[in-house]
Amino acid sequence: MSALSETTDPFALRELIAQRINSGLLPIAAADKIFGGYGQDQFCACCDSRIREGDVLYEIELAVQQPPLILSMHRECFNLWMEESESRQSARPNG
Ligand SMILES: [Zn+2]
Repeated sequence: MSALSETTDPFALRELIAQRINSGLLPIAAADKIFGGYGQDQFCACCDSRIREGDVLYEIELAVQQPPLILSMHRECFNLWMEESESRQSARPNG
């Protein structure tokens, strides 16, 4: 097992994010505060790669946590995380 690098393919990335939601490492997006900005070489909460300076990033403030938890993630990771979150929210037990 090697860490995901910049050559991550989107299918592996989606799978990784789905697994992290399933295992509780990532929350499900739920009306949290979302800020756009630029990376400062911090780690992405989704893929563990660095968000390099100048790269677009999203910061999500989870108000359900006290003190609020801030998650930073790449734009691609954010999009996948939102999609995975929405698919879980709309899932029904009797589907
Ligand atoms: Zn990422």
